[in-house]
Amino acid sequence: MEKVVECSKVDPSSGCQAVIRGEDEQEVLKKAAEHAKQHGIRQVTPELIERVKAAIHDA
Ligand SMILES: [Zn+2]
Repeated sequence: MEKVVECSKVDPSSGCQAVIRGEDEQEVLKKAAEHAKQHGIRQVTPELIERVKAAIHDA
């Protein structure tokens, strides 16, 4: 099933409306890591991955 995560759920303070979709959790995580660069996040920490994972849900 397709997975989706809203950037605003990972970081409400960002005010970002981006929605990241993927075929599975791994693809969403990969795209989220790419998207994080737009927020100046170069290092995707295990903690950040956990926050993204917690916010991922079925599309
Ligand atoms: Zn964002």
